[in-house]
Order: sequence, then C-alpha cells, then structure tokens
Amino acid sequence: MAVFTVLVGIIAVILFFVIWHSVIQSAIDNSELAKTLKSIQTLLEQRQPPGMTHPSQVREWQSRRSSEDGGRDATEEVFEDEGCPGCGTLVSVERISCPECGLTLRDDS
Ligand SMILES: [Zn+2]
Repeated sequence: MAVFTVLVGIIAVILFFVIWHSVIQSAIDNSELAKTLKSIQTLLEQRQPPGMTHPSQVREWQSRRSSEDGGRDATEEVFEDEGCPGCGTLVSVERISCPECGLTLRDDS
C-alpha cells in the first residue's frame, strides 16, 4: 500500500500546483497592476521601437508607422473631402479613376 500512498501524494501535489497556478494566473489577469503594466508596455512600444534611441529616428518611425496604419483609409478620406487632385471634382471613394479627367485615384492592385 506504500506505492498507493506515494501515488496519491504525487497527485495531490500536482493538483495543488495546478490550482495554485490558475489562482495566481487569474489574479494577475484581473489585477489593476497588470492593466497598468500592459498600458505602459503598449505606450512604450508606440513611443519607441527597439533599437531606435535618437529622437529624430523615433519621429521618422512614428510618421512612417502612422501612414502605414491608416494608409488607404486616409487616402480615400482625402479624396472624399477634397475631390480629385487633378480637376477638383468630388469623386466617390469607390472610383478607381476620376470620371472627369481620368486621373487614377487609387491603385486597385
Ligand atoms: Zn479629375
């Protein structure tokens, strides 16, 4: 019966660690500290990419990143607001080219 006792002991220890781990995990997930840390981490990632320490490098990276993020949407919004850059006609954002002057407004490839 000694083997059985050891087995039960091992199972009990494993169970204890599984429960303990899940309790800690949920506590970390729900805590305000974790939220704060996550927001700080996100902020840091947005502000400064790894390997870039010079402010001008960071600024360049930020402008490149923002143009990549909203690239197409921003372009379409500009056309909707300002019309065709060639002739000034207000063109639907769905149009690939301007119906008035034929200027290509967006690359559909
Ligand atoms: Zn036009």
